[in-house]
Amino acid sequence: MPFPTSLSDPVAGGFSPNFSWGEVVAAATPQESADLLSALKGDTVALENAVLFAEYVLQPIRNEVGWIRVTSWYRTPTHNAAVGGSPTSLHLLAAAADIEALEVSQTKLLEVCEKYRGRLEEIITYEDGHIHVGMAKSFTLGKVLVKREGGYSTLVSAQNVTRFGVLAALAGLTYLASRI
Ligand SMILES: [Zn+2]
Repeated sequence: MPFPTSLSDPVAGGFSPNFSWGEVVAAATPQESADLLSALKGDTVALENAVLFAEYVLQPIRNEVGWIRVTSWYRTPTHNAAVGGSPTSLHLLAAAADIEALEVSQTKLLEVCEKYRGRLEEIITYEDGHIHVGMAKSFTLGKVLVKREGGYSTLVSAQNVTRFGVLAALAGLTYLASRI
């Protein structure tokens, strides 16, 4: 899938069979989404990750389970802090998304996410019904970085947290963590 060459109207334009830029900047309020969009336009790492994540993870999942609602995908450090995200969250790179299935159960959605485990570094289920999925490093073409104030630094893996979450989910338990 070609990297988008024009972002003049990113909300209207899609970049995957049925994902839109509006979903990448999903937030609780229109103002928050507008702020995220402004930041996203200048964040080439996040733009590239968003395209890869949609192509290799979210679109295949959506193809299997029907409509899924994205409640959070890309976050700026400010927005991430406001929603209580981890300082090393993959959301900062547009390499993670919080999704809800609207046509199937959370259990079914989890089953489908598990099929793409090789492409995911994080799968975390939440009691409210959403699932956080974070893209594996290999799918960011070696460009996984964590954006902090003042620049970028190497990713600190959340794998240990993730493994526990996946195991707990498989055991039929609900893993509760602060929103990552
Ligand atoms: Zn998340």
